Amino acid sequence: MVVDSQPHLDTQPRRDMNSINGAASKRSALEVDNYTGIYKNRLSFYQAAPMFDVSLEDFESWAIDRLKILAEIEASQVRNRPFNDMKDVIQRQCKKLLNLSSNSPKISTLEAERKKDHVSHYVLRLAFCRSEELRRRFVKTETMLFRIRFDEASSAEKNAFLQSMKSSQSTRVDWEEVDDMEKESLRPFLINSSPIIALKPGEFEKETYFKVKWTQVPELVERRRVYLKQGYAYVPIREQTSLILNTFSTQLQQALEFTAKALPRLDEDSRLLPVLSHLSMSFLAGLSSEAFDSTAFNGDRKVTADMVDMLAKLHFPMCMRNLHNNLQTNHHLKHHGRLQYSLFLKGIGLSVDEALVFWRKGFGASISDDKFNKEYRYNIRHNYGLEGSRKAYQPRSCQAIITQQLSAQDNHGCPFKHFSLDNLVPALRATYNITDHNDLNEITSAVKAQHFHVACTRVFEITHANKGVRKGDGLGNGESVNHPNKYFQRSLEMTEQGSQSEPMAIDGA
Ligand code: SF4
Repeated sequence: MVVDSQPHLDTQPRRDMNSINGAASKRSALEVDNYTGIYKNRLSFYQAAPMFDVSLEDFESWAIDRLKILAEIEASQVRNRPFNDMKDVIQRQCKKLLNLSSNSPKISTLEAERKKDHVSHYVLRLAFCRSEELRRRFVKTETMLFRIRFDEASSAEKNAFLQSMKSSQSTRVDWEEVDDMEKESLRPFLINSSPIIALKPGEFEKETYFKVKWTQVPELVERRRVYLKQGYAYVPIREQTSLILNTFSTQLQQALEFTAKALPRLDEDSRLLPVLSHLSMSFLAGLSSEAFDSTAFNGDRKVTADMVDMLAKLHFPMCMRNLHNNLQTNHHLKHHGRLQYSLFLKGIGLSVDEALVFWRKGFGASISDDKFNKEYRYNIRHNYGLEGSRKAYQPRSCQAIITQQLSAQDNHGCPFKHFSLDNLVPALRATYNITDHNDLNEITSAVKAQHFHVACTRVFEITHANKGVRKGDGLGNGESVNHPNKYFQRSLEMTEQGSQSEPMAIDGA
């Protein structure tokens, strides 16, 4: 894969590529008669690395889109979502971020979709081959993504894919089809190993069996779904998913180890290193970095300084409630706390003038007007892009907040990450009135597993249960919290939609 940082002059292909990118998806209405591209099947074991130019922008944005899917898979696994629920959530995410159409609709973005899938997989391989922990998590989530796609594929697609695997030089498929003579000689054992075949007359004759080393299908062995003989498992074709998934994860694991060994010798492009380490940090944090478009959200909405306290009690996530409470109590926040909170407030629609009023009131009598004007006014205006470099600073994402290093006196950051459990549980009781033992257990279990945004998502579900939010719904469609402003936005939208008149009882203060 060659990474090209130059702008592309040929705009037509770029338009096609953009059409598959995330929320900006604009599916072309053009149809093609026959797909003649390099990706014959949408299912892939990613045996060959991409050998074409990729712009630096696509290199990163495609990988981030894939990372969002993998992060949601991890979140689903931590939440013990049943496979079908997880599949629904992930399929919805994939439609937005990493769509893979089948060959049948004959759409013009087919090649671009598969290219994005191919490249993003390889970029994440480079990012996640670097440690045992990253490799383990990557293999697990990629295997689940493959399983979801395999599950939704038609029989024709599955068969075409399996045929292509068998004929492929690079895919090391270690399955041997059991011939008729051997099958007949093992008839009673094979029938007894599968209750479905044993119950239905004529099923055995129709079944095809594969012989594989038993270590390739440990879950089938554990569930006693296969006949074992001399170290081999006899797997009926109906259990092929297990076989394929095992082959997928084994080969991916080996490929990652190989890449990890080769990595120091690879002539790495210095432009890629920051991108790759950012991606791996995001994955370790359990989520991808997420931008928040405050302009699109706020529209004509105006938030005044006087409204902040009420909004905090009803709609703020715990990180912002914590900063708000600290400011109210101590009339002071340290620099990073002010920055985190100020950008969040900007994101919810607090104008710079209202922000100056809010912070002046927040500091109260602890400082003089003169000191406020000299030391704080500039920084607040700076956050709004009105001073200094005049950059349009964006509200911080969960990934940025969670991965911050804090010193003992700091009170910014994410409480799920940065509070001890001894402090977190009383804080949850005091802030959101969460007292149910099971709810608290679920939240602390996610925290212990280091899936902090999953804990936050559970808090959202609990505190919005009277708005009809059920366990597993997340912010909607099963999506986990990945940005404090999205938490706020969703909470506010639910109130504005007014689906129920009952007030939210979330303020335990
Ligand atoms: S998970 Fe995100 S929104 Fe929730 S408290 Fe942590 S940083 Fe804030």
